[in-house]
Amino acid sequence: MNRYFIAANWKMNKTAEETREFLLSFIPAVKNVTDVDIIIAPPFTSLNEAYNKIKGTNLQLSAQDVYWEEKGAYTGEISPLMLINAGCRHVIIGHSERRQYFSEDDLIVNRKIKAASASGLGVIFCIGESIEERETGKTFDVIKKEIEAGLTEVDTENLVVAYEPIWAIGTGKTATTDQAQEAHAFIREVLRGLYGNKADEIRIIYGGSVTTDNVDSLMACKDINGALVGGASLKPESFSRIVCFKREI
Ligand code: PEP
Repeated sequence: MNRYFIAANWKMNKTAEETREFLLSFIPAVKNVTDVDIIIAPPFTSLNEAYNKIKGTNLQLSAQDVYWEEKGAYTGEISPLMLINAGCRHVIIGHSERRQYFSEDDLIVNRKIKAASASGLGVIFCIGESIEERETGKTFDVIKKEIEAGLTEVDTENLVVAYEPIWAIGTGKTATTDQAQEAHAFIREVLRGLYGNKADEIRIIYGGSVTTDNVDSLMACKDINGALVGGASLKPESFSRIVCFKREI
């Protein structure tokens, strides 16, 4: 059984001061949790504050983006090594907001994944279909294409796949447990096609309006190994309740 992996994607929220305040109450609330990798992904400008607070705790740090080059004339960009030096163990790549607002396509996503994993960062690789794609029966084709393109020449080590149906992100519309389980089982099959038995070690997490109300039933699904949480990760009370989801329901 894989350990659960539950990550907070704060997006463009929380200054360093707000990060400090969050962690002051969140860290004690989850200190006894031993069966979950608990990840916080603050904005770049709050990484240092977060790292100083979570050092020596059961929390791990993630960045929300990375560039694929090691260094050089790439104004505004951050390299994998810089993230590692800032204390990050993971990075989110391929989030639908980056695909949508910053024109990141599968090729860019693949470059970022290759560079991040070559440097030793764990990759939280996001995939998922739009509402039009779901309604026209293209969900599985879209997911398969994103996986195969994003993971070209990528090893399984430290890889986490986040299934995030775009229509469920920030909308309050969660996939039903049946929809989520069906997609996760399909993703597992696609990963087996790429990696054989090693695919069973890859954690597949669900993202899309995860809340304190739906987390227990989502985490009870056979192929759901954790969650990527946006809105409900911004308050220590709700995110700690999500991390402490009910193990038996
Ligand atoms: C996300 O952005 O990764 C996400 C899942 O957001 P939300 O939980 O707010 O839907």
